[in-house]
Amino acid sequence: MLTQVIPAAESSSGQRCHRILIVDDDPIARGNYLRFLRADGPRSYTAVEAGTARDGIRLLLEETFDCLVLDYQLPGTNGLAVLESLRVSNSGGPDIPVIMMTGHGSEQVAVAAMKLGVADYLPKEGLTAGAFQRAMANAVDIYRLRNALRHRNERLGQLNDELTLKTSELQRFYQTVSHELKTPLTAVREFVSLVRDGVAGETERQEFLAHALNGCDLMALQVNELLEVARCDADRLPLTLRAVQIRKCCEFSLAAVRHLAIAKDIEVSVTLAPSLPMALADEARVIQVLTNLLTNAIKFTGPGGRVDVRAMPAAGAPDRIIVEVQDTGCGIAAAHIPHLCERLFQVPESHQSASEGGLGLGLYIAKELVERQGGALTIDSTPGIGSIFRFSLPSEVGQTRTSAAA
Ligand code: ADP
Repeated sequence: MLTQVIPAAESSSGQRCHRILIVDDDPIARGNYLRFLRADGPRSYTAVEAGTARDGIRLLLEETFDCLVLDYQLPGTNGLAVLESLRVSNSGGPDIPVIMMTGHGSEQVAVAAMKLGVADYLPKEGLTAGAFQRAMANAVDIYRLRNALRHRNERLGQLNDELTLKTSELQRFYQTVSHELKTPLTAVREFVSLVRDGVAGETERQEFLAHALNGCDLMALQVNELLEVARCDADRLPLTLRAVQIRKCCEFSLAAVRHLAIAKDIEVSVTLAPSLPMALADEARVIQVLTNLLTNAIKFTGPGGRVDVRAMPAAGAPDRIIVEVQDTGCGIAAAHIPHLCERLFQVPESHQSASEGGLGLGLYIAKELVERQGGALTIDSTPGIGSIFRFSLPSEVGQTRTSAAA
């Protein structure tokens, strides 16, 4: 085997230098092909020569080429057999265009060569530089275009699969959302018609209206969650990061859920580490996350249970604050935990035990909000014992240090 590099005639033109493998036992023929390639004005080629089929196959398997010039008549074998053996060893044949050269060609050989996917078939006899250069240029160009087309088709296929998945996700989303919205709407409608028909006394009337009001509140909450998801997905969640007191966030969130805890006789406690630094976060969003976790904790904890909120500097990372909400509720099986923050995900068992409706969007939103503030949301849970939902936030101390270092 011998390697010869043909200087790039037109490297300044920006044309890529194509790498050609010539497999021919006849050194004169190989010399001719090299000459033809060298004389090709607008293109530049690098050629590697192999005098035997074995060397050629080895090179094809080991290296990368843009075109194979393959002699049909080789010692002890022929070009078609070489292509066949490559097809077997290379699962489908060499993934480059092949120009088959023959001195003893026939119609059948040409047909067989084409069936094996050769790009061109040239008789050695009377071969001109022009014919060889044209065949080479066509083979390389057609192959390049075919490859580009194949890649584009593959990409289109991928996009199509993604689109199909998105469409079915969207259908499921609409089905769940319309179902969940319909439930309180039907209840509200019933209570309002009962009041309108005057079938109830004053006390019942008040009770029916209170139920209707609850239904309206639930629907408003769900519509709000839908809007938040749309904002998350469109990356339109404006956050204003500034020094935030976690104590204040806890007070706000607790005030928002107190009535729920009282209704279920659930004790809620808050413990803040004495040296808790301020968080660098968006106050309204921290309150939103905390309120969501507290609402869930109360929702999935039975009457008489406990919910504990704790906030502390992260162990070993003083530039982070950890806030955790622990409950003594139903807990979550380990298999469900990785899916909790997916859109619409609800644990079937826990959801049935909770009387309040939900869309399964709260944790998705909470995770997005925490991550967009530079934190992370993690979940520990034991079925029958309870859960801990924990989120981290950057502390103002970390920011001051980073600024000082900068
Ligand atoms: P929603 O509460 O509206 O269903 P979330 O996204 O807030 O939606 O919660 C998703 C699901 O995670 C809930 O339906 C419930 O199955 C489970 N879950 C969340 N918080 C708790 C908790 N504290 N204890 C047990 N299960 C919980």
